[in-house]
Amino acid sequence: MPLALSKLIGSTYYIPSPSNVGLIIQDNKAILIDSGSDKEAGRQILKLLKEQNLELSLIINTHSNADHIGGNEFLQKRTNCRIAATAMEAALTEQPVLEASILNGAYPHKRLQNKFLLAKASRVTDVISNSGQILETTLESVSLPGHFLDMIAVRTTDNVLFTADSIISEEILSKYHIHFLYDVKAHFETLDMLKKREDKLFVPSHGKPVAPDVFKALVEFNEHKIKENISVVQDSMTEFITSEDILAKVCTYYGIELNANQYVLIFSTIRSILSYLLDDKQVEVSYDYGWMLWRRM
Ligand SMILES: [Zn+2]
Repeated sequence: MPLALSKLIGSTYYIPSPSNVGLIIQDNKAILIDSGSDKEAGRQILKLLKEQNLELSLIINTHSNADHIGGNEFLQKRTNCRIAATAMEAALTEQPVLEASILNGAYPHKRLQNKFLLAKASRVTDVISNSGQILETTLESVSLPGHFLDMIAVRTTDNVLFTADSIISEEILSKYHIHFLYDVKAHFETLDMLKKREDKLFVPSHGKPVAPDVFKALVEFNEHKIKENISVVQDSMTEFITSEDILAKVCTYYGIELNANQYVLIFSTIRSILSYLLDDKQVEVSYDYGWMLWRRM
């Protein structure tokens, strides 16, 4: 289905897609929040902008996951637009192989070098702070640590908050059960911060825009689901156990079938949960010859 433009409030629009794209019109120019999941999304976004007679001036990337920067390379090549991102996300946007390398914790074999984990490189012209005014725009970045290295939300003067991947729709979470997490402690703090926000409308990257009362319930649903993920990990530790065996037990619990991408995404998230539990002194780890073994305290 071709992508279409949808008006939210005032000069704030969005382009609904598997990975939503925000659009703000400022001085008759377009500013995008993320660029869609791939080159084809980029192509369709450019067509939409042309139909509206809008020149693309800037893409603000919330973070560097391939499904958020996928249209960058095409759009920048065609329009020479600026691209803004926080420092760590900028590094991965310019050197996208780092995302696949981080996820695999090693050289990413060819089955991991696909468009879901490896976007085409683009040039970040502006490294921005994770909080405060974004460049010369009327937009504001709001720090959302947890899901990835240094993710941001973007707030518009119409009081719309684009919340990136901090919050996932109930539908998606109920279907997939585990959403990628890098820093669990920081993510819980992000969720607490989001509960207190007083914006008019919230736009997650994956899911429909939500009104404030629904948003609060959705934040709580996300929090509940992560706590459930943590309990499933803890309950798997009936004895000394390897992280691979924890992964197997978690997948059995949720009925998850692995493939190359799912393996690195879910296993990385489980290891982030283990790091969180270890730092919180809820689990301990021992090294025994060739084994790294986890146990509940
Ligand atoms: Zn995403």
